[in-house]
Amino acid sequence: MLVADLQHFLDVGPDTPGPARKLAEHLSGIVAAASAGEAQTRWETALPCRRRPAHRACPGRIVVSWTQPEHPINWCCSHCDDAGTITNWATSIYDLRRQQLTASEPVQDVVVDTDTAAALRTLPFLDHDCQRAVFAIRALGNELHLTVTDTELDDLIDSLAAEANHEPNRRRQRQLDTAYDHLTTAAGQPRW
Ligand SMILES: [Zn+2]
Repeated sequence: MLVADLQHFLDVGPDTPGPARKLAEHLSGIVAAASAGEAQTRWETALPCRRRPAHRACPGRIVVSWTQPEHPINWCCSHCDDAGTITNWATSIYDLRRQQLTASEPVQDVVVDTDTAAALRTLPFLDHDCQRAVFAIRALGNELHLTVTDTELDDLIDSLAAEANHEPNRRRQRQLDTAYDHLTTAAGQPRW
């Protein structure tokens, strides 16, 4: 059981050694996902387990729950026994709790694959609502469900296209393009 204080993982920079940076990414992702979801609810996120037993990725995903902002986030893997708590997460930059009650625009449910969910999590400069939608992607059985308003979906598709256009790394560009195709198809939008 990993007991972590998020504040100890916030000043991670390019000089931080790989393992420490990976752990910080893991924990900040969990905070983003947990806070993007509702309190008092235990649910399975799209975040993959970090463990690699026998050099193969654990197929589990991270399950999160929390009750109040002052209390820790609890997390565990849906497959193995990896688990932990994270304290001092509220009001951090990874806290994606709803800031205000927004007018209830209709939302749609878009099924995405693991790679698309992962590509969406890497997008910089998303606004708070889009970020929350991305980290709130929920695993139900073998499917990942993205719940978004039309505006958020358009923003995400635009961000994928813009990021792919500016990406010098071919491999990442392909990932972004694939995610773009997947999202436009899933959204029922024609490809331009
Ligand atoms: Zn696991």
